Amino acid sequence: MADKKMDYRVNVRENGKLLSVEITCCGKHIGEIRFADGESKKCPDCGSVHFIKIQHNHFHLTRTE
Ligand SMILES: [Zn+2]
Repeated sequence: MADKKMDYRVNVRENGKLLSVEITCCGKHIGEIRFADGESKKCPDCGSVHFIKIQHNHFHLTRTE
């Protein structure tokens, strides 16, 4: 739904390395995951799974129902 806020906040170390991702879904902060390939978090409200897929020169933050 359009009124349900979703947000990814990526935390970066001082040396520029990516550290972790904080996930907001359904307008609520549902948790933080380590920045690593395959890490995921499920939203307790809508059941969506948010996950990180890291490839050689980029990464995806993806949401599946
Ligand atoms: Zn949700």
